[in-house]
Amino acid sequence: MKMIDNLDSNEIWKNVLGELEVSISPAAFSSWVKPCFIDSINEIDAERWLIELACPSGFHLRTIDERYYGQIKQILERQVGKRCEIGLVVKQRIESVEPENEEANDLFSEDKESEFDSQQLIEVGLNPRFSFENFVVGGSNNLAYAAAKGVTDSPGVKHNPLFLWGGVGVGKTHLMHAVGRMLLAKGMKVRAVTSEQFTNELIATIRSKSVDSFKKKYRNVDVLLIDDVQFIAGKESTQEEFFHTFNELYMKGKQIILTSDRRPQDIEQVEQRLISRFLGGLTVDIGLPDYEMRLAILKQKCSELKTDADNEALELIASSVNTNARELEGILTRLVNAATLGNGYLTKDLVEKEIGVSAKREVKKLRPQQLISLVAKQFECKNKEIVGKSRRAELVRARHIAMYLLREEMGLTLQNVAQLMGGRDHTTVMHAVEKMEREIGINQEVREQVIRMKQEIYGSN
Ligand code: ADP
Ligand code: MG
Repeated sequence: MKMIDNLDSNEIWKNVLGELEVSISPAAFSSWVKPCFIDSINEIDAERWLIELACPSGFHLRTIDERYYGQIKQILERQVGKRCEIGLVVKQRIESVEPENEEANDLFSEDKESEFDSQQLIEVGLNPRFSFENFVVGGSNNLAYAAAKGVTDSPGVKHNPLFLWGGVGVGKTHLMHAVGRMLLAKGMKVRAVTSEQFTNELIATIRSKSVDSFKKKYRNVDVLLIDDVQFIAGKESTQEEFFHTFNELYMKGKQIILTSDRRPQDIEQVEQRLISRFLGGLTVDIGLPDYEMRLAILKQKCSELKTDADNEALELIASSVNTNARELEGILTRLVNAATLGNGYLTKDLVEKEIGVSAKREVKKLRPQQLISLVAKQFECKNKEIVGKSRRAELVRARHIAMYLLREEMGLTLQNVAQLMGGRDHTTVMHAVEKMEREIGINQEVREQVIRMKQEIYGSN
């Protein structure tokens, strides 16, 4: 096969990006498509090219494969006037390096992040346990993950501030600290605090009249991470100081990351000018993990705890406990302790014995009709309208979400869902589910609606 020049492939990809940028959402574009590049182009014959598209992670690869493959192929074929076979590969871009820079290039590999001793991290407020290496990525956090990675690639430039929100124990702090750790590894000055620490220090500083040292501490950094920012609600002097800190850092192009248990616009008793600042960058949420992610998290934690566990045991925990990562960790630790009383091995029997009954009680058993009622309540309409035929946008959305949840969360068959939804065709259900899956990835409003529904179904934590 004949290889096409590297220069050409860059040019071709640039044109593809140009077309895609106007046809998909900006968030999806910058998270998924932009980080990819054409790795090689080979001529199969006069009519056909084989194009290898490099994706920076397995996650990107799957997302491209599922959502954008068709579009990319179409645009490419139009651009080059050939039939194109596209091969997706996971590969990161090696920036063009001068030979003497090879070592410097190594610094960008993720291995570097584990080289810290804990003390260095603790000094700047980072939790030594939190890194990208041990962060599991899945459907409920992939956008947040991509955004966080975006920040590590170009701190202070893209996504500033990055605002991560979601319920307790879903990994907000973990992800934020992973970014801090990586930027620290790149030699940046990082400072991480909770908003409570920030407040307490400020009060102490005012008392001891050492405001200057406080300012120096928080305004002389490249990266400021503020955790649980909802706690500044009602604290006026904190908000005042925070506003000035924010502005100064922002003006200097420094990166700010914030976390909260709710969206910026839902934080009450915080000055509007601060809320506007929070909303000025990128806001992404993290939801509860689904079954596959729960299983992956359990496996990750087992390897951290250096414990052996039956796959079946972990599968049983993942399927019977529908909750956040923190609680999963708690349950696993409890079980591992119980196992050490025996032969140290975590088995399915042990899981059944220890959490069998109580775990099942934790998952609210919901009947399909109840789920439809919950959706109806959320959208302030009647069950009848959800299963009915009206094309009013609100109702169509509610209907799609109901179908999606019946299928994905309750595991009903397409036929079954079709019947429950007023005797529709099962292909209608299939399309609705596919549409929702796509939308959840790119449409913030839909994501929030689905997250809220899941919280209704499973209880908020
Ligand atoms: P939050 O700040 O959202 O309340 P944390 O970041 O403190 O949650 O996470 C709670 C616990 O769950 C931590 O021990 C963290 O390591 C773990 N955890 C959360 N999400 C993940 C994930 N995606 N992969 C691995 N561990 C996770
Ligand atoms: Mg937290």
